[in-house]
Amino acid sequence: MRLDTKVRIEDKLYLVRFKPDHEAHLVIIDQEVCRSNCKDRPCTFFCPARVYEWEDANNKITVGFENCLECGACRIGCPHQNIEWRYPRGGFGVAFKFG
Ligand code: SF4
Ligand code: SF4
Repeated sequence: MRLDTKVRIEDKLYLVRFKPDHEAHLVIIDQEVCRSNCKDRPCTFFCPARVYEWEDANNKITVGFENCLECGACRIGCPHQNIEWRYPRGGFGVAFKFG
């Protein structure tokens, strides 16, 4: 019998609990930069929680900040430093459970 050792991101995210704030702790500073100067939009790939998505209908990046794992990758990953990043307010954000 072969064991499947692949772990899907959805399975890993099951181990995470969130207490979402109503105030966004992640903000796109200038959507025009995303539209015009960032054709590859790496934030839609490097975020492990898929927080950033390109929305064709509205021609903009959407930010599902409620799912943020607070890994900090978008602080350094945006080539235009176009993401304002801070930790969620005290008591809000991510909590990890192991098991
Ligand atoms: S990587 Fe930065 S500039 Fe590019 S689409 Fe994402 S937020 Fe916008
Ligand atoms: S801190 Fe990590 S999980 Fe949160 S939005 Fe940035 S890349 Fe995604």
